[in-house]
Amino acid sequence: MPSKKPIIHCDALVVHCMDYRLQKFIQPWITVRFGYDNFDIISLAGSVHDYEMVLKYVQLAVQIHTIETVCLINHEDCRAYGRDGTYSRHKHDLKDAQKKILALFPHLNVETFYLHLDGVFERIS
Ligand SMILES: [Zn+2]
Repeated sequence: MPSKKPIIHCDALVVHCMDYRLQKFIQPWITVRFGYDNFDIISLAGSVHDYEMVLKYVQLAVQIHTIETVCLINHEDCRAYGRDGTYSRHKHDLKDAQKKILALFPHLNVETFYLHLDGVFERIS
């Protein structure tokens, strides 16, 4: 008999920076936002800084977990950006990644946030 694996699903893919200073804010926020076991998560230096890498994971999460939401989180004082890491640059990169993801996956809900070092999540729109 042909065996077919059942569909497994979670609601979201979360993309955030590797920076240790943010984890204490990110983990509880994600859990409140999406639930304890309802998201895929990747941690990359600079978050959306490497868009091609982010895209690989978006494609994979759509394919294997039928996600509906992508949550992109860049943050203040990101050392992966170095001197280029201005507020406007982060805002630009987040919107750019959002636009590119939506062009490829129009059915997704793509959320963008700028996380301040004091733990405030600022919605970028
Ligand atoms: Zn960072």
